[in-house]
Amino acid sequence: MSVRVRFAPSPTGYLHIGGLRTALYNYLFAKKNNGTFVLRIEDTDKARFVEGAMQNLIESLRWAGIDYDEGPNKDAGFGPYIQSERIDLYKEYAQKLIENGNAYYAFDTQEEIELARQKQQAEKLDFKYNRNQMRNQITLGNEEVKSLLESGVPFVIRLKVPEDKTIRFKDIIRGEVVVGSKEVDDQVLLKSDGYPTYHLANVVDDYLMKISHVIRGEEWLPSTPKHILLYEAFNWAPPHFAHLPLLLNKDKTKLSKRQGSVAVEDFRDKGYLSDALVNFVALLGWNPSADREIYAIQELIEHFSLEKINKAGAVFDVQKLDWMNQQYLKNLPNETVALLIASELEKLGIAPQPKSYLEKVAPLFKERVLFVSEIVANADYMFSQPKDFEEEYFKKHWKENTKELISQLIKAIEEIDDFFHSAIQEKIKQFNEEHNIKLKEIIHPIRLMITGKSAGAGMFETMEVLGKSECIKRMNKFINERF
Ligand code: GLU
Repeated sequence: MSVRVRFAPSPTGYLHIGGLRTALYNYLFAKKNNGTFVLRIEDTDKARFVEGAMQNLIESLRWAGIDYDEGPNKDAGFGPYIQSERIDLYKEYAQKLIENGNAYYAFDTQEEIELARQKQQAEKLDFKYNRNQMRNQITLGNEEVKSLLESGVPFVIRLKVPEDKTIRFKDIIRGEVVVGSKEVDDQVLLKSDGYPTYHLANVVDDYLMKISHVIRGEEWLPSTPKHILLYEAFNWAPPHFAHLPLLLNKDKTKLSKRQGSVAVEDFRDKGYLSDALVNFVALLGWNPSADREIYAIQELIEHFSLEKINKAGAVFDVQKLDWMNQQYLKNLPNETVALLIASELEKLGIAPQPKSYLEKVAPLFKERVLFVSEIVANADYMFSQPKDFEEEYFKKHWKENTKELISQLIKAIEEIDDFFHSAIQEKIKQFNEEHNIKLKEIIHPIRLMITGKSAGAGMFETMEVLGKSECIKRMNKFINERF
């Protein structure tokens, strides 16, 4: 049997981080098994329609590097992959269930349903559609149904759930699940507007798209018995199921917007690297080994196994994500970091810098920050002359003789031929010996004049990158303007 899996989001505006994990696990499983990863857009809930949501979703997946093999604009014969373009199909399949006696027409109005709900509530019962008491094909008979349909009375189609049946299925992660059919309502399959419900569309599409494994979040577990009944009603073999553990906040509540970002695009905009986010998300509920956290995507594919996914909820720990981002950032090639710096500069409207220069700036900072944006924000002096100088730093390190020392130091620096950090360091060491001063008496004033700040990367390395004439220019400027 060939492996075909799908990610089937409802486009609600953005890709939730939990959705990213579902997509990723499907993707890893497909790649591991030489299978096919399908993207299907489940957009039949008209009330939740959001303009541009599908494009946004596809863009977020693309950013994360999760390419689908089949889906919108990649039809391999199973399309369309957007449910709103398949509406007639669902009607046709609902009709098949009417014909084989596993579904029935119902004509209850909203008010009638509401009344029945209230009545059951008064008896402290959970609402269940009672097919023997409501207005439907069973109570009205086929003749009456025919005339109601002919006169255009609105209807829904409901699944006729068998009365006393044990529904069983094996979940690859959770083991055997057993539910009594008494607990399952007669699901609406086709709504009065002719649109299918999630259950009908999902099952019909999984069948028609030859999905072999349904891998989805645990919140869909209660729907699975309904789906199993639908497969039986159609006389189709169900796929395999794997329900992924919930994502939790640190306080073990369900991951929600209230406690921080959950949209993939927010993580992107904050500056997380896609590889770091994907690595982090991959380990939410699964880890191929106990003592390792960093995995390239190819390694994730190689090790992936549905059987090894945990049942217990996975805590979403932003600190761990931050740590992971740092690991990825510091291991990025300088050329890549340079490109990221360039795009940050552009975002802020700062004049572009030569690529070769940014490639030298990158290694100075990439191990010291969490995000590339911090390089531009904190080390602004690498991209323009400092305008502000930390006053406290000045007061602390500028002594009476400093100005005089600096004038002489500038001359010494001018003499350095190969302006490498080691040569700068050597020259300054010499200078200190000649003047009988300690390094800290001169290095802080140098840092202040050149960067304006008390903290930064190694000063000799910073000077090397800025270049001799720029360093001298800044020192002269400081002395001239200050005194
Ligand atoms: N459309 C559902 C969602 O939004 C799909 C659930 C499933 O994978 O069956 O997640």
